[in-house]
Amino acid sequence: MSPKVRRLVKLLSRLPGVGEKTAQRYVLWLLTAEESLSRELGSELAALRDELGPCERCGNVAEIAHGHAVCDVCRDSKRDSKVLCVVARVHDLVAIERAGSMRGRYFVLGRLLSPLEGIGPEDLPIRRLMERVGEEGVTEVIVATPPSVDGEATALLLKRELSPLGVAMTRIASGVPHGGDLEFADPITMGRALAGRRAL
Ligand SMILES: [Zn+2]
Repeated sequence: MSPKVRRLVKLLSRLPGVGEKTAQRYVLWLLTAEESLSRELGSELAALRDELGPCERCGNVAEIAHGHAVCDVCRDSKRDSKVLCVVARVHDLVAIERAGSMRGRYFVLGRLLSPLEGIGPEDLPIRRLMERVGEEGVTEVIVATPPSVDGEATALLLKRELSPLGVAMTRIASGVPHGGDLEFADPITMGRALAGRRAL
């Protein structure tokens, strides 16, 4: 294989769920498919990091305009700003949005507390979350971290840090399987998990 093909295969195989064989199949296929596809893919990928970035309010994916990135959820004036849903990753936010029953806004932590991996409370954006609760007059924080050991530990940490602010803390109901990923929960299960949330 030409070094150029090998380089592209190596890059593509760094994507999640893409092994070397699949990457090779992609490259060879792109070489024979319509030329516009690889050109368009290339230009979109090249611009990706210039045009999209984390929303400066919630961490969701947002389009960058005039040096600022504010996502569609944060821009949506019909959202209830008193309800804030805390998730670990953007994937989880997307899964909850797909269920369509969340009327509030979000806060993406970016990671979970994980003593085993050496991730402590100081590594989480707790202060920024607290500021947001205060600034926006949030009355309920829904903790939608996954039902795993790290997800539960993070929920307890949030309760300890945020409860003194006088905000109601709720946790999404199980229904999402223990250790499971919110990303893979179907919209109905996710809707039920949200509707059946309990005090934390
Ligand atoms: Zn946002």
